[in-house]
Formats: sequence, structure tokens, C-alpha cells
Amino acid sequence: MTTPEYAFLNDRIVPYAQATVPVSSVAFKFGTAVFEGIRGYWNAEQEQMYLFRLDDHMRRLAYSQRFMRFENPYPPGEVGARVAELVRANGFRKNVHIMATAFVAGPGGPGVCGPLGLSITANPRTDIPWGETGCRVQVSSWQRVPDTAMPMRVKCNANYQNGRLAAVQAHADGYDTALLLNTHGKVSEGPGMCFFMVRDGRIVTPTLASDVLESITRDTVIRLAPECMEVKARDIDRSELVAADEAFFCGSAWEVTPIIAIDRQALGKGKVGPVVRALRKAYFDLVCGVVEAHPEWRTPVYVD
Ligand code: PMP
Repeated sequence: MTTPEYAFLNDRIVPYAQATVPVSSVAFKFGTAVFEGIRGYWNAEQEQMYLFRLDDHMRRLAYSQRFMRFENPYPPGEVGARVAELVRANGFRKNVHIMATAFVAGPGGPGVCGPLGLSITANPRTDIPWGETGCRVQVSSWQRVPDTAMPMRVKCNANYQNGRLAAVQAHADGYDTALLLNTHGKVSEGPGMCFFMVRDGRIVTPTLASDVLESITRDTVIRLAPECMEVKARDIDRSELVAADEAFFCGSAWEVTPIIAIDRQALGKGKVGPVVRALRKAYFDLVCGVVEAHPEWRTPVYVD
């Protein structure tokens, strides 16, 4: 993968290689940072790049900073403008994945709350390899960290070690990725994505009180669901997974990715099902601006 020309650090666009943080920073030592992963979709016909639900990502970044008691948090409007500026500066004309991170930049101990730094990187996107074929999932023996310990609702970098352990274990055991249960034994989410299943004509997903991130894609998918299908957020037992006709993960990075087997048991017919396939198409049509619905969710980058 070639390195883009520019990144953003603190208050300006810099050559990509210069976007570094000191090893003495609290962020480096203790993971005291919060971030957002945002997709930009290139629409070749319209010669436009659309950032998907940028404002919602920026609102969540503000919430994460507030929750972590960061001093002088970056305002959502400012970070959003910087994201668009960076994509423009690199002149991307293909899909990109963007990461915007607010971090404690100075030295000190884990309780230090500032001063903050801001980094933004944008890289040509890499496709999720199981988008068309579906992935095979292991129910992890690692439990999702509970809200009473370290809230998964907050997009804090340090939280990601929990999902990482599950993903690394799943890979070592020959699966594509993991699905974590929470400490109540109910289905929670994947390492970096939400879980949905289709059962008896209903689309079901865990509630937002299941130790999950309050996912923007989850909200998008719920609104994209066909009108004839009920969407229900409720507790999901592990034993229900076997009864699912279809299942999928979703997230800004994972988009809508089918699941075809859990713990080596095939789901439904063991291949990508019609509901997931339709949702996937509806999702890509929306994010790329192929359909006109929800223009407020697409921030065009190349504007005068
Ligand atoms: N859960 C976790 C743990 C994640 O990291 C992500 C990716 N941000 C998601 C769910 C999906 O969230 P979103 O749709 O907002 O990207």
C-alpha cells in the first residue's frame, strides 16, 4: 500500500511521515486516546467523494472526549472540517478509510487529561475480504468488557485490546473473526463491528445496553431494513445463533459483511442469504450516493 502524501497533526496538514507522537506521551504509554473510523466513498459518475455520516462520527468523538474527561476537547465542527480538508489535500479519487484521533499528547501518568493532540489519516480503503462470500465466526471464550469496568460505548483506543484478544484467538483457531458474549452470557458484538441475525422473518440485533459501541452503521442498517420486516433490538442467547437463517456484521469498516458459519456450524443454507444481500446493496447505493435518500448523511468533499 502506498503512503498518502499528507496527514493532519494537531493544527496543520503535514507530510505523512511527520505525523508521529512522542513515546513519552500519555496516549502512547496508556492508550489515552479516542478515535473515529470514517469512510469516504468516491462516486465516479458525479466526480465526488462522500464522507458517510461525518457529523454523527464527530458527535461521537466529542462524547468520547467528554466521557474521558479530556481537557479542552476538540469541537465536532472543527474536526469535521479538518477531515474534509485532509481528503481534499490528498486529492483522493477512490474510496478511503479515515481515522481521526484525539489523544493526550503530553507526558505524565495515566490520570493526565491534557493537553490534547489531534491526528487524522486517510488511506485508500482495503476491501473486507468476506464481503461477497461471507465470514466464518468463532464465539469467543473472551467476554466483552462490561460497562461497569470500561464502557464499550466510548470509542477509546484502549478498549480495543478486548476485541483484539478475541480476534487473535479466532485467527489462531482457523476462523475469520470472533463474536463476543457479554458478562451476562448474551451476544454482544464483534471486535470492531455489530452483530445482526435474521430469524423467522425478523431482523434482530443486541440492544445498546449489551456492552456494544453505539454504532452509526447499526442505526443506518435499522433504517434501511425492508418495510415488510420487523427490526428488533433485544437480548440474543448464544443458543439462538444456530437457529438464525442469516447473520451479518456491520460497521464503518466492515460495511455489511455476511456471516455464513458460527463455531463451524453453517447458518441457514451455509451461504450468503437474500436479506443480507439486499441490505448490502442498499447500503452501498446509499453511501456512494447512487440513490438520493438521506443526502444529509453524505458530506461532499470536493466543493468550492
Ligand atoms: N463495534 C465496535 C467495537 C467498533 O469498533 C465499531 C467500528 N467503529 C463498530 C461496532 C461499528 O461502529 P460504526 O458503525 O459506528 O462504525
